[in-house]
Amino acid sequence: MALIELFDLHVTYNGHNNGSGMAALGGVDLAVEDGELLCVIGPSGCGKSTLLNVLAGFIAPTSGEALLDGRPITGPGPDRAMVFQDAALFPWLCVNGNIDFVMKIDRRQRAERVQVRRELVSLVGLEGFEHVHPHELSGGMRQRVAIARALAMRPRVLLMDEPFGALDAQTREHLQDELLRIWQQTGTTVVFVTHNVEEAAYLADKVAVMSERPGRILKLVDVGCGRPRTRLQPSVCDVKRRLLEILPTSVGPNGSACCTTESGGD
Ligand code: ADP
Repeated sequence: MALIELFDLHVTYNGHNNGSGMAALGGVDLAVEDGELLCVIGPSGCGKSTLLNVLAGFIAPTSGEALLDGRPITGPGPDRAMVFQDAALFPWLCVNGNIDFVMKIDRRQRAERVQVRRELVSLVGLEGFEHVHPHELSGGMRQRVAIARALAMRPRVLLMDEPFGALDAQTREHLQDELLRIWQQTGTTVVFVTHNVEEAAYLADKVAVMSERPGRILKLVDVGCGRPRTRLQPSVCDVKRRLLEILPTSVGPNGSACCTTESGGD
């Protein structure tokens, strides 16, 4: 049995279209194995964040089933932690304080908190910055703290919503490598939303490609490139090409990618 199973998942938001609602997800079927790193890509507005929010338990599906370990997801829980594009740290707390916060809520003993904090600060490479506040950190360092804070919950699943989307290219690549290292060290299952096919091909075991809204899974691509990878290795470039073929995109009048049509996959 997969760790996460979604069956014919629909989410419709109320308050749109004169009360008829707006379908964000239109029947998502998906399975994520324990320990897997799954990337979700799709056009803007296709329901990627909605999907993560259902997994986090922030949104209840309108119909269909979302299961974690065979049990329905009925609300948020410490077994799932979310990392957003904006690190959303507590500005009045230092690095240690931010990581400590979730463990205090969990009523963990001080000795354990100190130990976990030390391990996590080392895991995300922030030794020497334990007492620094968020405004004194770079964007990449803030995201490292957000990842450490999420891991302090000892989640089974790390849900990541375009976590590196606001970072410059170099920092982004560096943090991708850091995430792979952390994922391999912790064995945590990761569901990672991105709109960047390169990022998906480089990071993922599998990539779920979504249709335009109402989102569903057009194709689940098994990356199968082995690890470690390089960004320019031919098999990674092949995966990137396959993803671009499946993605419902076309080139807009200004040459930028935009979403207009839907294709049936490769
Ligand atoms: P994505 O992450 O793929 O860009 P989202 O899941 O954020 O897509 O949004 C899917 C659709 O649902 C969008 O059209 C968005 O405007 C709408 N939507 C998202 N959240 C809400 C909400 N809380 N209430 C109403 N509509 C929403």
